[in-house]
Parts: sequence; structure tokens; C-alpha cells
Amino acid sequence: MAPRSSHQPASTQKGKNKIRSASTRRSRKRLLQPLLEYAQDAIALVDDAGCFLDANLAACQLFGLSRQALLGRPLLDFIDAGGGHEGLNLQTSQRQIGELRLVNSRHVFSEVEYSLTPAVLPHGHLLVLRDISRRKAAIEDELQRQRQRVELFSEVTLKIRQSLQLKEILHTTVTEVQRILRADRVLIYQVLPNGTGKTISEAVLPNYPTILDMEFPEEVFPEEYHQLYAQGRVRAITDVHNPAAGLSECLVDFVDQFDIKAKLIVPIVQNLNHNGSTSPNQLWGLLIAHQCRNPRHWVDFELELMQQLADQISIALAQAQLLERLEEIVEVRTAELQDVNRSLKQEINDREHAEAALRQSEEQLRLITNALPVLIAYVDNQQQYRFNNNAYFDWLGKSPGEIYGAHLQHVWGAACYQRMRFYVDSALSGHTVTYENEITLANGNQRSVDVTYVPHLDDQNTVKGFFALTSDISDRKAIERMKDEFISVVSHELRTPLTSLHSALKILATGRLGSLSTDGQQMLGIADESTERLVRLVNNVLDLQRIESGKVIMDRQAHNAADFMVQAAEAMQAMAQQHEVTLIAQPQDLMIWADADYILQALTNLLSNAIKFSTPGDTVWLTAEAGQDEAIFRVRDEGQGIPADHLERIFERFQQVDSSDSRKKGGTGLGLTICRKIIEQHGGRIWAESTLGHGSTFSFTLPTLKE
Ligand code: ADP
Repeated sequence: MAPRSSHQPASTQKGKNKIRSASTRRSRKRLLQPLLEYAQDAIALVDDAGCFLDANLAACQLFGLSRQALLGRPLLDFIDAGGGHEGLNLQTSQRQIGELRLVNSRHVFSEVEYSLTPAVLPHGHLLVLRDISRRKAAIEDELQRQRQRVELFSEVTLKIRQSLQLKEILHTTVTEVQRILRADRVLIYQVLPNGTGKTISEAVLPNYPTILDMEFPEEVFPEEYHQLYAQGRVRAITDVHNPAAGLSECLVDFVDQFDIKAKLIVPIVQNLNHNGSTSPNQLWGLLIAHQCRNPRHWVDFELELMQQLADQISIALAQAQLLERLEEIVEVRTAELQDVNRSLKQEINDREHAEAALRQSEEQLRLITNALPVLIAYVDNQQQYRFNNNAYFDWLGKSPGEIYGAHLQHVWGAACYQRMRFYVDSALSGHTVTYENEITLANGNQRSVDVTYVPHLDDQNTVKGFFALTSDISDRKAIERMKDEFISVVSHELRTPLTSLHSALKILATGRLGSLSTDGQQMLGIADESTERLVRLVNNVLDLQRIESGKVIMDRQAHNAADFMVQAAEAMQAMAQQHEVTLIAQPQDLMIWADADYILQALTNLLSNAIKFSTPGDTVWLTAEAGQDEAIFRVRDEGQGIPADHLERIFERFQQVDSSDSRKKGGTGLGLTICRKIIEQHGGRIWAESTLGHGSTFSFTLPTLKE
């Protein structure tokens, strides 16, 4: 090439400059050419349609074609349809970067990072592609590895958690860690209370000695190490002989015995006490992996796995302790339950015995009640039978099944029930009552019965029902009738001579027929008194007999009860004074339908009894009150009272509580019998109530007149 002159015209100069800059460009291009050609990234020029105009060696390799074959081909041919290439736009003036998935002529896929610089030349765009397939694969690999680790962790964790047996958990841990880490030995070392320690679980390859159950002396694992491990220290020792590992001489000697070259140690720390409460970190033991063949660099993953498993062991320990505590509690509870069970059994036994005894005594009672020729029953407060003996069947022809649960009225019939009703109500109000009744047996026979009701009270004194005892007194009644007839005949025959005798004695006493000695006078007095009593007796007997035989017709008229009460009280006032008894009458205006003479007789008889059986200073009351369709008269005293078993009997002939009463009190034992007859003839009732030592009340009812 000719040398260039410096004296040239301006235009020539300009042309020269142009030539110079073009040559500079050329020389630069020459310099860049190999750089571009041998660059690691694929570099290419593409036209507006995306077809290759030029490409370097790396690009040819990437697309798997010679330069000649590549030029003119569109980039689109090499883009994997599934990889997505939305970002690549040749029409824009902006530089673009992104990632693409390519497939070359040999069907090899590659992941590339691209940068597209548009219009580096007119209609020429610079495309730089960097193969990132390997990097991506490495990331994928790492992710895969991490996934596997996570799976591995959870698999081992699951295995550990599936067991509640600590021993089994520890064994699983060492076996799994040994398998995953491909370590020569993995062991669990437990710190003992005396400061030493012991291998309690081990997984070791067959060609290495076992150190299971081996106790480590304190020098090998001194107290200060405990502190460090308790705070979470982890040790990964690549080479035990490397002074940087900082192992004590004695520990190195110890590990040498077992040919240990590398160690990985993680602590097992406990945060729970045996009773379930939390406590500060306590070193329970260590999870240790050994490499014996040669030193080993422990990677993070291995360390992490060991730590995670040590944590799992801590949890398992806490669970085991809780379980142990639970078992203790269960044991205590079981013992308690067994005790309760025993006492329950005993109680059941006792109850069975008691029930058997009760059954036996019930049977005996039933035998006894069935053997008795009386009706025995228990009636509840709804007036329904709850118990009855066999006599019910014999008398009424009704089986126990027919009677059990049946109402009194159903068993006895309406008429009989009507007569019983008053006494049933009394029994259910808590009073013991005895009365006589007439019943009809199954065979149609009429019987006289004596009935007693005894109320049954519970602890709160509530009446639950009553016991009923009914005995046949027909025979006794028949005898009584005969006796009465005999007495009335005798009385009748006696009355006339007795009256004459009495009159004769009275005349003798006047002394008109001659005077008697003092002894004679005394004898005469006794004879007179006795005759008087005899006359009274005979009169009473005849009275009674007349009333009973129905010969007496009550002359019933309307009267005011108050009048009777005043008259009776006045008539008895003298006797009351004589006995030093206060007699108080509280007259009531009640219209009754009665025979005045007979009612006065009944009232005076009751008042005379009340005065007779009172002590001086006592009071006797005569009261009356209105009941339902009836007037109720009461004579109350504060005297000696009447025993319960005599309350009904005293209304019978010649019945006296004390047989000496007739002599001492001048009674005949017929007064109350006559009273009852009078009242019953009036359609009323008479009865006695008494508290021994505190007095008695005699009550009777008379029908009242309706307006
Ligand atoms: P008496 O003529 O014997 O009084 P009653 O038929 O009138 O005959 O009485 C029978 C018995 O009843 C008496 O003997 C007595 O034992 C007892 N009696 C009657 N009324 C009372 C009373 N108010 N207090 C205690 N006992 C009485």
C-alpha cells in the first residue's frame, strides 16, 4: 500500500479520514472476530424475519448445524413449542432479555438465557444466547435432593413416632441414621445421674466392634462438656487427630481404641419434667455418628438430620415420661377401682344375704299370716290393697291377684265401703281405729267383724297407708245376744221385787217401824246403797234392751243444740262441784233433728263420766261445731285417759277399763253402750280419743237440719 501524503485538499482530507476510520473499524473487526468466534456464549445476527445472518462457533454448536447450514434458517425453527417464547419480538427497538427452551437439529433440548439487541446493523439484530441447562439441572438436582431429605426426615420421624416404646424409638433412630448417613456406627449415649454415661442403643457395621452398654468414664466426657451440650452445642469432627478438632488427649486415646476417625455429635436435650412441667434445658444424652475407615467431612444436611432426630428423641422422651406418669396414675386408679370393686362386691354380697334373709322372713310372715283365721292386709294411701293374706280368698272368694292393687270399695262393695269410709279416713289421718262392721261372705253368710286399722307412717310422719286386721266376732256377738236376752229377762223379773225391797228399806230407814242399833243403821245404809245400784243397773239393762229391740221410737224434733248443752251442763253442775271439777259449756246455735230426752241422757252420761274420771282441779269442756250436714258434740276432760286398746271396747256392755270402776265410781259399764245406741238411732256416730294421763275426748255427731 502507498504512503499517504499530508498535503491534500480538504475534500481529499475528508475522504482520507473516512478511509482511515473504515480501516480502523476493519482492524477492530479483525480483532473482535476471533473473540466473538470463540466466545463461550452463542452470538448471532438475525434479520427482521428472525433468520440467521451470521453466527459464531458456540451458536453453531448450540443449534447443532454448520454455519453454512444455519445461515438463512429462522430462529423460530429451534424454539421448543412447549418452552414459550412470547417475549421475543424483532419489531421493537428495545433490548430484550429472557429465557428460552431450544431444541437443536439433533433434537437436543437446552435452556438458554437470551439477550436481543435490535438494529445493531440496518435490519440486523444481535442475539446472544447462554446455555443455562447445566445450571438449571444443578438447581433441579438440589431441589430434588432437598425433597428427598424432607421425605427422609418425615419417614424417620414417622417411624419414631409410631412407637411409644422408648427403646424401640432409639433403636429405629440409630438404624435409620446409620442407613442414611452411611456412617460406620451410630449410637445413643445416655448421661447417667452419677456423671458418667452409657451407650444404650447402637447401629454398627459388622466389621466394627460394638460399644453397646459400654460405660464411658467421666474423664472422657467431663462435666463442662455437659454444660456446653445442654446449651445446644453440636460437634462435627472431620478428623479426630487434627489438633484443630480440640479433642482431649484422653478422648483421642479412647476413640483410637475403636478406630474412630470422624465424629458427629448432637445433644438430646430435655425440657419436660417427669410430672409434665417444663424445666430448663437438661442434657439427657447424645446422638453420635462415627466414621471409622477414614476422616470424613460432615455436610450440613447430615448435621441437620442428626439434630432433627435428636429433637424427635427429646419429644419421644417427654412422651415416654408422660406415659410413665400416666401409667402410674392408671395403676393408682386401678388399685382404687379394685378397692371400690371389692367393697361393692362385699356390699352386693351383704345385700344378697339381707335380701335372702328378707325373703325368708317374708315367706315366714306370709306363712303365719296365711295360717291365721283373720283378714290381714296393707292398704296404701290411695286406698288400694298392697298386701293381703289367704283368708281374703276363704272369706270373699277373691284371689290375691284380684285384690292386689284394687280399691277398698271394689273389694267390699259400695254399701259396706260406706260404713268403713269414716274409719279409713281416720286411719289415713294417722289415727289407730277399731270398729265393728257387718260383712257378707262369698257364700252369702252375714258375719260380724271387728276391724282395726293401724296407720303406717314414714320417717317424716307422712301416712303411707295402714295395716288392716279384721276378725270374725259373729260367735261372740251371738253369745252376747243370748246373754243380753237372759239379763233382760232376769232384770225384768228383778225390777218389781227390787223396787219393793228398796221402798221397804227406805221405810225402815225412817225408823217408823222401830229404831235400830248403830250397827243395824250402818247395815241398813249399805243395803240401801246396794239396792239403789241394783235398781240403776236393772233400769239401764232394761233401757238398753228396749232401745236395742227397737221398742223405743225416738221422738225426733227440731232443736237448737245450744239448749241441750245448757241443760246438760246445768244438770251436771252439782256433780262437778262435788268432784271439784270446773265444767265449761260453750253452747253453739246449731239446728239438729233429735229426741230431746235421749240426747240429754247421752250428754249427761258423757259429762258424768268425764267428771267421774277427772281429778279435783281439772276442767271438763262441752263444745259443739258444725260439720258437713252434721253437728259434732265433744266432751273433753283432763282425766286419767283411756288405753288405745280400750277406746272401742268401752262402748260394749259392761266393759270398763278397770273392773273396780263399777264399785269405786258407782258405774254399771252400760252407759256408753246406751249412748252409742241412742246416737246410732239418730243416724250419728260416737267415738272416743284419748292420750293416757292427759285426758279423753268423747265425740258424737247428729244430723243437722237443712235450711
Ligand atoms: P260406767 O258406768 O262404768 O261409767 P260407761 O259405759 O259409761 O260405764 O263407761 C265404761 C268405762 O269406760 C268406764 O268404766 C271407764 O273405765 C271408761 N270411761 C268412760 N268415760 C271415761 C272418761 N271420760 N275417762 C276415762 N275413762 C272413761
